[in-house]
Amino acid sequence: DRLVATAADGEDQAVEAALRPKDLGEFVGQERVREQLDLVLKAARARGATADHVLLSGAPGLGKTTLSMIIAAEMGAPIRITSGPAIQHAGDLAAILSSLTEGEVLFLDEIHRMSRPAEEMLYMAMEDFRVDVIVGKGPGATAIPLELPPFTLVGATTRAGLLPAPLRDRFGFTGHMEFYAPAELQRVVHRSARLLDVEIGDQGAAEIAGRSRGTPRIANRLLRRVRDYAQVKADGVITREIAAQALDVYEVDARGLDRLDRAVLTALLKLFGGGPVGLSTLAVAVGEERETVEEVAEPFLVREGLLARTPRGRIATPAAWEHLGLVNDAGTAG
Ligand code: ATP
Repeated sequence: DRLVATAADGEDQAVEAALRPKDLGEFVGQERVREQLDLVLKAARARGATADHVLLSGAPGLGKTTLSMIIAAEMGAPIRITSGPAIQHAGDLAAILSSLTEGEVLFLDEIHRMSRPAEEMLYMAMEDFRVDVIVGKGPGATAIPLELPPFTLVGATTRAGLLPAPLRDRFGFTGHMEFYAPAELQRVVHRSARLLDVEIGDQGAAEIAGRSRGTPRIANRLLRRVRDYAQVKADGVITREIAAQALDVYEVDARGLDRLDRAVLTALLKLFGGGPVGLSTLAVAVGEERETVEEVAEPFLVREGLLARTPRGRIATPAAWEHLGLVNDAGTAG
């Protein structure tokens, strides 16, 4: 339920469909992936062939699902969406694969979380457009080969390194999605505001972009909360002041840190002089579980260069002192 969570909540899911760019031209940023993908798709279209399998890696909310839909749209093909955790048995995958039509795009989110037998079935399906369906059990079991129509698999994963090499190697193209630059997120915010019929100035969009942690999903979510604030507290127009005031109310600060992030950082600075301090001690100090601090708060703090994980414990960087407006008495920074 964090406003800066990377995963989609119910409200996100309801509006995201309306906010998704429909073609590569509308897709903001990710210049390299877009250019490479454009070539892959144009070449396939020119050959009248089905596009090569595509692997997209990157953090949640950066646009992997959106890109897979764009791939289907650009190829004029239907799309089927599923995810690794939904495919627990090879039979689940066989059922999906055998119902695909020629040229169809199969989007497999969190592909690294598929079961092992399903993964092995996928190797053959990707390479030879064929699966062996096992009928029966034990010594009497027989493999019945089943031909599949050519399809395009679009796999998504948070990290390509999580995939076994044989699976990774079967993708013709891998696109690495990066976090978005503030100027790109500003364009995302402008575009979404237009679609949501919200009036917003450049500065207002920049303010939201700067607090969105490099992630379009978060930018769109913050935009909706700022819109609420602008409607209730002002004339509905989003200026820099309105955006800043609104996000202060929601406790998302100028750098995109929320209450949890700030609590971790504040404890590290005020109680432990900037560290080093062990993870468990830090977690107790903020009244959270170890895992919450480690998995929910720290990745962004590390990415922002505010906190470092060292063998001796967590330490704050000079930027952390500066960001919280505190002075380091030990004199190493601040
Ligand atoms: P997850 O891994 O959690 O499924 P994802 O990487 O698939 O996330 P999407 O669902 O594609 O992310 O995108 C989240 C939201 O951000 C969508 O509303 C989408 O419209 C918007 N978005 C993502 N990338 C872009 C972009 N490049 N330009 C404009 N909007 C974008």
